[in-house]
Amino acid sequence: MSLTNYHSHTHYCDGKLAPEAYIKAAIKQGLTAYGFSSHAPLPFPCKWTIPRPKIKEYLAEIQQLKEQYADQIEIYLGLEVDYIPGRITPKNSFIRSLKLDYTIGSVHFVGNWSDGKPFQADGTHAQFLKGLREIYKNDVKKLMSHYFKLTRDMITLACPDVVGHLDKLKIHSEKGKLFSERSDWYVFEVLKTLDVIKKSGAILEVNTRGIYKKKTTELYPSKWILEYAKDMEIPICLNSDCHHPNEITKGFDDAVEVLIGVGFEEKMVLIGGEWVAVEIFKKE
Ligand SMILES: [Zn+2]
Ligand SMILES: [Zn+2]
Repeated sequence: MSLTNYHSHTHYCDGKLAPEAYIKAAIKQGLTAYGFSSHAPLPFPCKWTIPRPKIKEYLAEIQQLKEQYADQIEIYLGLEVDYIPGRITPKNSFIRSLKLDYTIGSVHFVGNWSDGKPFQADGTHAQFLKGLREIYKNDVKKLMSHYFKLTRDMITLACPDVVGHLDKLKIHSEKGKLFSERSDWYVFEVLKTLDVIKKSGAILEVNTRGIYKKKTTELYPSKWILEYAKDMEIPICLNSDCHHPNEITKGFDDAVEVLIGVGFEEKMVLIGGEWVAVEIFKKE
């Protein structure tokens, strides 16, 4: 009844195929609802976002698919929007003008290089280390605290429907290489951010991509964070962040195990145009 995915990338941004291929895969797997969340255009060149002139075509194509497949699956039109102060937010006038069904707000850029260009912190490890060295003088606490501060500012100032991959930057510190998720300062930043999410009413995304791409051994966010989120009664949704139709529900079975283990009984789904809580079912 409740197999859904709202975080997906097609060939409009850095995904592999046309939107219809994802819908066909979703129908085949029995999904009741499916959402597209291409990377929103940025006001500077970026190879993984929708180019601004293409946005109209994206909106029209998803709209057309909505109608074409209306009797088989609910399709939703969204974007994964960055938060870069002064440049883009999930609630700026351009994003609002698109009349989307929902937004996923994700922080991928943290601070600026000396030439003023934003620093993408979730790219290659080498790039992360370069930013850490040149912008943050090798102070990883400073970089990560800035990341969580930006996440909180996004939620406070331009709240998206869904907060995307909350702790994705841990990919740069597998096995505690650069920082430990158990450090007091890291726990403090995470809890402060959960607090802001709780107050905002936004949905916390549980995202499986790091696992099936073998970038982390844990979900975004990690289990210990999910335990706090459960105690705080923060609503969650489950997404695959797929970039190919064969990834639309990748990692969901294991994620459901984790969620049920943590004590979550419900997840949020966009059905009938509204976010509602439904039971999390374990696959028999
Ligand atoms: Zn993302
Ligand atoms: Zn994504």
